[in-house]
Amino acid sequence: MPTPLHRLPVEYMSRQSTQRTDGRRFDFYSFAAKAPRPAATTAKPSVRLPSAAGLRELRWHPLLGTWNLVTGDRHLRPTMPDGCPFCPGGAEDLADFALAAFDNRFPALVSDPPAPDSGPFPAGRRPARGRSEVIVYSPVHEGRFATLSPDAVLRLVRVWADRQRHAEEDPEVEFVFPFENRGEDAGNTLTHPHGQLFAFPFLPPRVLDKVQALTAFRERHHDCLMCAVQRMEAAGARMLYSGQQVNVYVPDFARFPFETHVSVSTHGQRSLALSDAAAREFAACLLAVSQALDSLFGEPMPGMMCLFPAPRQAGEDWHLHAEFLPLMRKAGRLKRLAAVESGTGAMVVDESPEEMAKALGAVFPELAWPEITVHPIDD
Ligand SMILES: [Zn+2]
Ligand SMILES: [Zn+2]
Repeated sequence: MPTPLHRLPVEYMSRQSTQRTDGRRFDFYSFAAKAPRPAATTAKPSVRLPSAAGLRELRWHPLLGTWNLVTGDRHLRPTMPDGCPFCPGGAEDLADFALAAFDNRFPALVSDPPAPDSGPFPAGRRPARGRSEVIVYSPVHEGRFATLSPDAVLRLVRVWADRQRHAEEDPEVEFVFPFENRGEDAGNTLTHPHGQLFAFPFLPPRVLDKVQALTAFRERHHDCLMCAVQRMEAAGARMLYSGQQVNVYVPDFARFPFETHVSVSTHGQRSLALSDAAAREFAACLLAVSQALDSLFGEPMPGMMCLFPAPRQAGEDWHLHAEFLPLMRKAGRLKRLAAVESGTGAMVVDESPEEMAKALGAVFPELAWPEITVHPIDD
């Protein structure tokens, strides 16, 4: 059982912001036992992001009714120096930090994009306004999400909430999406523990689908679909952990091998700004799922971790949730998104979600609880 909240040491979070000469904003987070003095920790941006670096625009897909994120400067990428960019002395030249969040050197979305040329379709192009951030979890190069301490994952949950709030200060941001691509098979070539965040100026298709499904369910059944899904899973054999405020399960509708959802059960918990108790449980669950996935085949599981706070236009029917979308279905056998998946969007699922849950249940660890609480930044 976790230690009662009132007996845990409190850490106070602080943020030091700087603006680099290339226009990028860097936020360095630290955590201390004493509340930081209310010093000016936020440097007001004096330089806007460079907008001439290359193409940054959204192009409308008229048949699918959504936007593509188009960047045209990959060929301009300087060759990165050898060595890890996030380590001391590395290309990003990171200062002392516990966690760091900064504008991606090669962003898909920027705060001040150039105006696009007019395209062939009416309203077919718009500036790629938003944010693309890198979040470095630790100054230590070795390790991965599953080897972080429970305290470190809790600090990350608090940083995500701070990033969400920061990104949503832009009224054009519709949806904030923290995520992590794990392993080279998920397109990640940097092994230093880190994730990313996109702040979208539109609702991406799968997120829009969720909002519309919730609205339709509310109209038809006068109920919250996300509450209903968790009630349904609670009664089944695919639940891996059911706690005070967080549920972990392989959903009946899993699309990826060993797909696992971590969902806050509190109705209307829209943002990543969780209570102390919920933040600790959410962190412990994210860690447990990562560890279970890594121990399935005795090697780090390639795949994606996706966080879904509520998009701005969602109603009260929302539950903060995370989806783990693994890419390996057997040891050494990758799930490929081939013709059916890529061409039609329908997923072929190679194993029953019940079998997936059984395999994950056999390696699902006891929850390792954070031994601290983290006080968020008050500003
Ligand atoms: Zn490194
Ligand atoms: Zn609900």
